[in-house]
Amino acid sequence: MSQNVLDRYQRTMTNMFGTPARALVKGEGVYVWDADGKQYTDFLAGIAVNALGHAHPALVQALTEQAQTLGHISNLFTSLPQVSLAERLITLAGANDGACFFANSGTEANEAAFKLARRYGHSTGGKRTKIIALENAFHGRTMGALALTWKQQYREPFEPLPGGVTFVPAGDLTALQAELDDTVAAVVIEPVQGEAGVQNFPAGYLAQVRQACNDHGALLIFDEIQSGIGRTGTWFGFQNTELTGTAEPVIPDAMTLAKGLGGGMPIGAMVTFGRAVSELFTAGQHGTTFGGNPMATATALAVLDTIEAEQILDNVRDVGSYLAQQLRELPGVKAVRAYGLWQGIELDTDALLAQGQKLPEKGLAPKIVAKALEYGYIINATGELTLRLAPPLIITKDQVDPLLTDLPNIIAETVAEANS
Ligand SMILES: *Cc1c(COP(=O)(O)O)cnc(C)c1O
Repeated sequence: MSQNVLDRYQRTMTNMFGTPARALVKGEGVYVWDADGKQYTDFLAGIAVNALGHAHPALVQALTEQAQTLGHISNLFTSLPQVSLAERLITLAGANDGACFFANSGTEANEAAFKLARRYGHSTGGKRTKIIALENAFHGRTMGALALTWKQQYREPFEPLPGGVTFVPAGDLTALQAELDDTVAAVVIEPVQGEAGVQNFPAGYLAQVRQACNDHGALLIFDEIQSGIGRTGTWFGFQNTELTGTAEPVIPDAMTLAKGLGGGMPIGAMVTFGRAVSELFTAGQHGTTFGGNPMATATALAVLDTIEAEQILDNVRDVGSYLAQQLRELPGVKAVRAYGLWQGIELDTDALLAQGQKLPEKGLAPKIVAKALEYGYIINATGELTLRLAPPLIITKDQVDPLLTDLPNIIAETVAEANS
């Protein structure tokens, strides 16, 4: 059955995603099933998306009721779920006098933020034409978001990209300050770099960047698409003092959201902070047909309500620290970068390879991911030696234990097969 679906995929789908690992048919809680009936524990959650796991009753109910009531209306009209979600996000973010724009994905939210930076440049006399982004950053795949994304392999086939973007080494304040002057409209940063392998910055870096932006009149834009909506144990990464290394949150001028926000329903958002930034767009300067539709916003509201009502942020911190602690004890694990239920695992090749043994050609981590599937776990690799976990925020200690038991065998078997 699985093979049949995959064959049909090969014949009909664009090749940009490579070969899908499995054809999935059903999900419930932290589990999914493939077309052959095999069960998997989902430690990736559709890449940090299924915050409430699969088929959560609150999400199903919100979506069903809204679909039966009012599905799509365009932005020539508004709806109660849309306005309620905007109010809710502004409150959770502490974005006083802020404003929301709803899109359908992360890359679209960043596209809006890119245009916000351009608007800011124009509004301040036109000489602020530059945007600073960080090396290793991932901000999405549309042309504007791609211009902010660092990886050459993603950029080069599509050049020329929108101009004015300068990259500086991640976490290096001096390098950033050297580029920061009154020609810079905005600095765009992921509070933790997700696609780069859950990579954090030196303690205090984000607050120092905030100060530097203030000194030079540049906007600070946080891409919270992966770090937001409870992933690190606080609503947004900039509120996580363990992450910022400061007693107070580091407040941006704008942030972008997507992934966990809809719990699986496609939705992105840009939230602006303060009146001045919130008034940079005037009517007609940006738009979307689907963005902010009642179904997506009602579902996102249900995600936020459920996280709050079921105290899921406590679970994220609790299970997250348990998971990280246990992972650090495992053989072959060099380091674990952990922020709540968002963890990057660095493999220790010295410990893993016996005398004369070699690494698999296409990287150890991707091979481990494939082996983990055979064992019934969905995990992810962000590099040749880096694994990433981003399970549903509702996962329990009991549900992470089997992976902790099996992971050493999964890794050892992968190394053995590469050398057989
Ligand atoms: C996933 C991601 C994006 C892109 O979101 P899409 O919904 O895939 O367009 C942008 N920025 C960050 C930090 C992300 O993790």
